[in-house]
Amino acid sequence: MSENTCAYRQSKEEVAEWLNSPEYREMNFNRKALSINPSKACQPLGALLCALGIEGCLPFVHGSQGCAAYFRNTLNRHLREPVPTVSDSMTEDSAVFGGQANLIEGLKNAYQVYKPQMIAVFTSCMAEVIGDDLNAFIANARNAGSVPRDFPIAFAQTPSFVGSHITGWDNMFKALLQSLADPRHGRWTNGRLYVVPGFDAYPGNLREYKRLVSAMGIPMTMLPDATEAMDSPHTGEYRIYPGGTPMAELADALNASGFIFMQRYSTVGSYKFVKNVQKINTEVVTMPIGINNTDKFLMALQEMTGKPIPAELEKERGRAVDSAIDAHPYIHGKRFALFGDPDLLLGLTGFLLEMGGIPAHIVCTNGTEQFRKDIQAVLDASPFGKDCGVHVGRDLWHMRSLLMTEPVDMLIGDSHGKFNAKDANIPLVRIGFPIMDRVNLHRSPIVGYQGAINLVTMIANTFIDQVDCTCPDRLFELMR
Ligand code: SF4
Repeated sequence: MSENTCAYRQSKEEVAEWLNSPEYREMNFNRKALSINPSKACQPLGALLCALGIEGCLPFVHGSQGCAAYFRNTLNRHLREPVPTVSDSMTEDSAVFGGQANLIEGLKNAYQVYKPQMIAVFTSCMAEVIGDDLNAFIANARNAGSVPRDFPIAFAQTPSFVGSHITGWDNMFKALLQSLADPRHGRWTNGRLYVVPGFDAYPGNLREYKRLVSAMGIPMTMLPDATEAMDSPHTGEYRIYPGGTPMAELADALNASGFIFMQRYSTVGSYKFVKNVQKINTEVVTMPIGINNTDKFLMALQEMTGKPIPAELEKERGRAVDSAIDAHPYIHGKRFALFGDPDLLLGLTGFLLEMGGIPAHIVCTNGTEQFRKDIQAVLDASPFGKDCGVHVGRDLWHMRSLLMTEPVDMLIGDSHGKFNAKDANIPLVRIGFPIMDRVNLHRSPIVGYQGAINLVTMIANTFIDQVDCTCPDRLFELMR
């Protein structure tokens, strides 16, 4: 029997020790045919979040009911809000005969029961595996009278065996523009800047974008705007469609004076469509996490619109710098491991480097080779980034091996990281999606200067708490 197996070990303790060894790490990183706890969800979940951002829009899953339940559950647990979504419940017979009958019946029921202003249809695996033709099916549903002939429907193919939730967000967003935006009126613009958040499950971030752009006096539309759907006020009355970008502003999108995309990897196709096909003045920025990235975002706004950055935002920047200086001793020189979506990681890495933190391991399951190059450029720009390992396409079981063989002081990522953090005996600061085991974190922004203050506070106080909880009695001090 080979020594490189768990069966060779005699006791549970020996197996546990071996799992933490460099030898096991090497085997783990040679693993090809299995993914263990990947840090990503499937395309339709992203399409659903995107659809929630249009006023009166009912998200519609053409596929299995269990898939729809999973998307709703995951968003539900993160947001602690109801997530209205329907599915046409494809089952075994639809897998054999195709899902057209389900779609025709499902659209009719959805239209009559939930009275939406529009429906956004997207697919789960089953419909994609059998090759259902959404374009033809929706046309046939209109002919069959399921919905009025002119009823607005956007549809996106969102096969789960390629990409991840960020690809699904991108596909749905592009479908919204292609299906429901009016053609451009030549050179005329509506004078509005369209701000595209990308896959962002923090209503606090969306509110922060709106506040910053408005503070610069720029007329704007957030497209799509899921702020209210993700965080609607408790009034005692349930509203199935709480807010969102008005349909008229979606229809007018291609007459925008400009588009600014707040993420680059969750908007790849949409960005190309707006910039290269529609030839609209378009910018994409790194998610404005930390002071440098927020500076660049505001400067991009200034360049696009000619509006100066107001004194109130300069003062806000000063307060963020002050908070960073106050918290600096607790973060400088500490080693971090991070995982999550590419856009989040790009922003967070820049933030940690400006605080003098040392990113040691970055795991991005849904990253690309372009992401690897982009994040390497961020790391290379700082002496604190020189020893960081970037692991694209890897999962949280790989992350575990990294933490056990090259320890760090803190793990940053969503709730799925809590098991790794426990095994490695380090704190987990919960940033990303989904966060299922803490409350309200999605309501506080992590972007902009206020977001920088929030991040600095969370990270530094977690280290301070850790000292208070673990230090011997003689070192238990009032001051830290
Ligand atoms: S991966 Fe496929 S089967 Fe699983 S939830 Fe997503 S769409 Fe459904």
